[in-house]
Amino acid sequence: MNDNFNDDFLNILVYPSPMLKQTCREVSPRELLWKKFDPVEGSLHGMTLLGIPTLLSSMRATMNAVGGVGLAAPQVGLCVRIFVAKIGGETISCINPVLDEMRGKTKQVEGCLSLPGAQLEVERADSLILRGCDGDGKPFERQCEGMDAWVCQHEVDHLDGITILERVGPSQRFLLRHLLSRLESDYEFMKRRSKERRKKK
Ligand SMILES: [Zn+2]
Repeated sequence: MNDNFNDDFLNILVYPSPMLKQTCREVSPRELLWKKFDPVEGSLHGMTLLGIPTLLSSMRATMNAVGGVGLAAPQVGLCVRIFVAKIGGETISCINPVLDEMRGKTKQVEGCLSLPGAQLEVERADSLILRGCDGDGKPFERQCEGMDAWVCQHEVDHLDGITILERVGPSQRFLLRHLLSRLESDYEFMKRRSKERRKKK
């Protein structure tokens, strides 16, 4: 694959992109072995051409550039179970994550790169074990507490088509109504513009 892509930033999809509503599929053992993707239904054009290492390094670069603590593959247009996150002071890549032994409950305020401007109080488990594969396809597990545990849950939610909007009640959503309608009209505008550009080509 094209190594020049490594430091490129990926476009982060924003609410109400339908990609954020999809349940992502697992990365297969064959894909892990060859570090390449089979076609992924519904993914943005060209995304599957990025091999797994290129995708991961671009996702890390994008997350760091925008000062995020986590980024899931569907947020950049690829519907597969992969996320990158800052956990325990380091940046990790996690393929096919599974959350286990979730304990405790806390409410804390979360934002999301796909919901710019939103801050919502979400309830999460505050201790869990994260299992998955790293960028080399090697299985790992690690104990996560507090913010690390919340980040894992936030990212796995993205892989199931769930954002923080679906994690709060109607009163918090109501407070966000103006922001959401602005994001919706921005999205419609961008969609129209890219349609017109395609027509001109
Ligand atoms: Zn998010």
